[in-house]
Parts: sequence; C-alpha cells; structure tokens
Amino acid sequence: LVQLFRPLDLLGMVYRTIRQGVIDMAAMFDLVDTPAEVVDAPGAPPLLVSQGHVRFEAVRFGYDADRDILKGIDLDVPPGSTLAVVGPSGAGKSTLARLLYRFYDLTGGRITIDGQDIALVRQASLRAAIGIVPQDTVLFNDTIGYNIAYGREGATELEVARAADGAAIGGFIASLPEGLNTRVGERGLKLSGGEKQRVAIARTLVKDPPILILDEATSALDSRTEAEIQETLARIERGRTTIVIAHRLSTVVDADQIVVLDAGRVAERGTHAELLRKAGLYAEMWARQAQERAAALAAE
Ligand code: ATP
Repeated sequence: LVQLFRPLDLLGMVYRTIRQGVIDMAAMFDLVDTPAEVVDAPGAPPLLVSQGHVRFEAVRFGYDADRDILKGIDLDVPPGSTLAVVGPSGAGKSTLARLLYRFYDLTGGRITIDGQDIALVRQASLRAAIGIVPQDTVLFNDTIGYNIAYGREGATELEVARAADGAAIGGFIASLPEGLNTRVGERGLKLSGGEKQRVAIARTLVKDPPILILDEATSALDSRTEAEIQETLARIERGRTTIVIAHRLSTVVDADQIVVLDAGRVAERGTHAELLRKAGLYAEMWARQAQERAAALAAE
C-alpha cells in the first residue's frame, strides 16, 4: 500500500505545482481559458538579449481560426523606449502582450527581439527576459517576502529588500511586526489594490528584465495612489524597453510612441502631441477621458 501511495503523492505534488503555475500565469493575463500548448522548436537556442529591440512585423492572430483579432500589426519599439498601446475595449491590446510572451503562436508575420524570432528561441529564455506587471496581481498564501522573491529563482533576501524599496513598499513592510515574513493573501494580511501592485512591481524588480509589459490596472485606485504608482513605474521603465497596455490616456502622455489599436489594426500612431494635432480617434478619446477625469475629481 505504501508503495502504491508514494507515486500518487508525488503526482499530486507535481499536479499542484503545475496547477499553481498555470493559475498564476493565467491570472497575469486575465485569461479564462488555459492557453493552447506552445512548444519549443527542436534544438531551439536561447534568446540573447543585447539591447532589447522589440519588433512586430505584419503580425496576424486569432484565438479561433474563423475570427482574426490582430490583422497585420507592425510595431517597432527601439531599445529602452516606451510604447503605449491604447484603443477601445476588445481592440486586441492585451492580446499583443500575450503574443510577445508567446502564450500563443501567430497565424502570420513574426515578432523579434534583437533580430531573433521569438517563436524560434527557447521559451524559458524568452520569458526570463520579459517582466510583466499585470492588471491584478494574484498573491500566494505565503509571506510577502516569498511573493516578491517569486520574481526570480534564487533571489536573496537583500535583493528582495532592495526591490521592495524600489517599488516604494519597503517602508510599509518594515512597519509590519514580522516584516518580510508577514503572511499575505487570503489566509494572511489583506493588501490594498495599490499595495498589491507594488508587490508586483517589486517582483518585477527582482527579475530585473530588459523588457517590460505593463498591463495597466482597470480597477479603480484613488487618484493619489494611482499617481504614486505611476511615478514608481516611470522609474522602473528607465533603461528598459517597455510596452504599456493603457486603459486610461492620462498615463501615456510621456510615452515615446503611442499606437491606437482599433478592431485589430493600427488606426493611428505618434506621440501625444502629434496625435492630438491629428484630431482623430486619439484626440476624441482624450477629450472624452478629460471630461470623465474632471467629473471624477469633482466627485472625490
Ligand atoms: P480591454 O481594453 O477591454 O482589456 P483589449 O483591447 O485588451 O480589451 P483583448 O483582451 O486583446 O482586448 O481581446 C481582443 C479580442 O479577443 C476580444 O474580442 C476578446 O473577446 C477576444 N479574446 C480575448 N481573449 C480570448 C481568448 N482566450 N479566447 C477567445 N477570444 C479571446
């Protein structure tokens, strides 16, 4: 009997580990379905990031064969620059980010990082190069230190503490009776939306990736917390190639380029000032959101 149970225990453990990994990945991108299996090409070499130059070349993609979500997208994100992706709900903004992380393979075109097609390199090396600050961070029922260290295997306590400071949550952690050893999550301390986001930022700082994806939170943070988080994010973006999936235009004003996606196509591109001058879709969205912001501020 003992003999019989051991392999089952092991299987159970493996299953739980895989399940936890999948849930975490899925939560990162708000996925409901488990992504289709993407496999490494035989003998795929690791991705070698020298500068972090990201390019989308005529990228086509659909979750279902009969419905294209992205219909030929070209993007060029030079090393260290910030690209903001805006557009109506359902335009395909988050899908772009999922494709860069290679959750799915393309139906046409290619995505390259420093000239290497991401479909031809080892997935583990691709994912090690990209940090994601998701919309809603899922915390493990473990310590706050574990939740930050999760960004990179083998992170030391000093690295975790530095990352917490970089994410401007070090002071808060120091004020907790058990510091980094404080348990958080469902069975521990409940963190606010802003604090959770800072844990996600700290996790990303531990990872220290050359490429960043920021999937801006849609859930409402109060405007002061939001401004503080924006300031922290602007700091960690420095020196990293960054793609911001923006739901509010107020956060994209300083981006090096803004792309307006509409129904799977690039409708407009340029800087904030250029797009306002165009008096098109972006200018329209900007005017509408400015009104909403003014109304929200008046109500606060
Ligand atoms: P939002 O601003 O609302 O987050 P978005 O621009 O990020 O929207 P995506 O999440 O990229 O939009 O979704 C684009 C389209 O793809 C939507 O029509 C959506 O219903 C569809 N879609 C997203 N994820 C899946 C999936 N896992 N399976 C099938 N269709 C999906």
